[in-house]
Amino acid sequence: MSFVLNPLPYAFDALEPHIDAKTMEIHHDKHHAAYVNNLNAALANSPQKDTTIEEILSNISNHEPAVRNNGGGHYNHDLFWSILGPNTSGENMPTGTIGQAINDSFGSFENFKTKFAEAGTKRFGSGWAWLLKNKEGQLEISSTPNQDNPLMDIAEIKGTPILGMDVWEHAYYLHYQNRRPDYINAFFNVINWSEVERRYLAA
Ligand code: MN
Repeated sequence: MSFVLNPLPYAFDALEPHIDAKTMEIHHDKHHAAYVNNLNAALANSPQKDTTIEEILSNISNHEPAVRNNGGGHYNHDLFWSILGPNTSGENMPTGTIGQAINDSFGSFENFKTKFAEAGTKRFGSGWAWLLKNKEGQLEISSTPNQDNPLMDIAEIKGTPILGMDVWEHAYYLHYQNRRPDYINAFFNVINWSEVERRYLAA
């Protein structure tokens, strides 16, 4: 079995000015590509015969660290590219089922935004902030270090991630340097809420 790097579903400059083209190009073509290559290399020597990336992640405690780091890296970036998209509508807010679920869970979109941003800001070093649907069907916000995610059996808070924000420096440093909070603010402008809703309904 071997995993592939899918093309970015939009142009490198599609998220400008919020996320710049050079960052997107290096992030996808270099960083994500490396996770895919390293994952395939690590699995080539593994006795495990998992079939899907989800299966590997749910069983990650039985794999070596290279599978955890690169399998997480591959899954997380596939999700990340899908939940981003060009902002064409000015104010970018969740509507429909996902908008209602966020209001019900967090009181308001503004409150959700504050808590989600905080999860990303407070993550020390490299990692991710997540909006996930837990096994009770409720929405939760969490944060994981490195390339871990809520699908992993070792995750503190488990569930199906429906929105993920990469807060590794490689996600923002070229344009925002050390200003992670500015990148996080900009991130909210380019969330593809219809994809988040699709993932919410499918979870
Ligand atoms: Mn990344």
